Amino acid sequence: MEIVIIGNGPGGVELAKELSGEHEVLIFEREEVPFYSKPMLSHYIAGLIEKEKLFIYPLDWYERKGINLKLGEEAKLIDRVRKVLVTDKGEYPYDILVIATGARAREPTVDGKEHLLTLRSIEDAEGIKALLEEHGEAVIIGGGFIGLELAGNLAKAGYGVKLIHRRDTFLGLDEELSSLIREKLEESGVEFHLGAELLKADENGLLTTRGYIEGKVKICAIGITPNVEIARRSGIHTGRGILIDDHFRTSAKDVYAIGDCAEYSGIICGTAKAAAGHAKVLANLLRGKEDRYPFELRSSVFKFGDLPIAIIGKTRGEGEWLDEHTKAFFQDGKLVGAVVIGDIRKAFSIEKELKKELY
Ligand code: FAD
Repeated sequence: MEIVIIGNGPGGVELAKELSGEHEVLIFEREEVPFYSKPMLSHYIAGLIEKEKLFIYPLDWYERKGINLKLGEEAKLIDRVRKVLVTDKGEYPYDILVIATGARAREPTVDGKEHLLTLRSIEDAEGIKALLEEHGEAVIIGGGFIGLELAGNLAKAGYGVKLIHRRDTFLGLDEELSSLIREKLEESGVEFHLGAELLKADENGLLTTRGYIEGKVKICAIGITPNVEIARRSGIHTGRGILIDDHFRTSAKDVYAIGDCAEYSGIICGTAKAAAGHAKVLANLLRGKEDRYPFELRSSVFKFGDLPIAIIGKTRGEGEWLDEHTKAFFQDGKLVGAVVIGDIRKAFSIEKELKKELY
């Protein structure tokens, strides 16, 4: 079978890795570089790792795996009748087409947004790194995982970091866990401005509901916008993401979607761990094996500076500390979620237990 994948992020590349021994696999990627780690971009910006360390799969890896990678080629349209993918350079027939186009950083809408940077690609990282080295400090807007990761690594590397966040808590966690994250990052030098809504940006800083915050380098990390354009243009159903069922099927025959671009029952997973997980399950389904991705079980792992954290399942309501690293959440006496912080070795077994409960 000819498997054509659009996008060379963790979703696309993991799927190619799974299926390359069994089928012809062709990946289209509009960027000019082979696969790199987005979770490591803030380490690179901070100067904690060399650029080469970002590239997990070099070009010869694709060759060895027999994966045909077309870099610098953008997919434009899916001709569903002829089962052909149209790119800016040619037309390619497919038996199975997988859209793994990911997402881009959500653009701010405030006045002066041209003074704000966003971080998604290696090119964005290069731009931010150069400015940071010139100015020595940054203001980060957004206390989601990307903002917190970036803040942690920049502070660890000795840069001045201010973080502006519209809420007082982070990542949907309770006050206690949010304070633990905040205190740990404050120890490494991050200055927090919480409950501050961004109103306006200019060359020298930001106007927020909590006053003016100075800073030449301003990085906005306020979420993602899934890349759904090719699906929409091709008449495939979309909402915020490309709509899929629990087998990753889109509304078009033999066309699937995985990773950050895909929306299942209102859920956009939005992590590298999920994108790779989708790929593994889809590979099994395409092999005709029974499998199911646990969309309902949020499970993510991040590292904010030196603080690792795993967030699994439902983490709202009254929690209970099981040990100094693990706060568990229960409903009707049953474990429904946990946050493991500091030492996250326990996270894997908790995730396994919760998966067993759910499926
Ligand atoms: P992407 O990685 O976005 O890849 C999609 C690819 O498709 C892109 O390379 C894009 O250029 C290409 N593409 C798009 N449209 C087309 C087209 N029409 N034609 C050809 N190519 C196209 N996740 C975690 O789990 N843990 C973390 O700690 C973490 N940290 C992060 C830190 C940063 C700074 C960022 C930006 C993200 C982080 N993430 C993290 C999120 C994670 O990187 C994403 O969830 C993941 O990359 C999604 O994978 P994907 O394959 O769906 O999409």
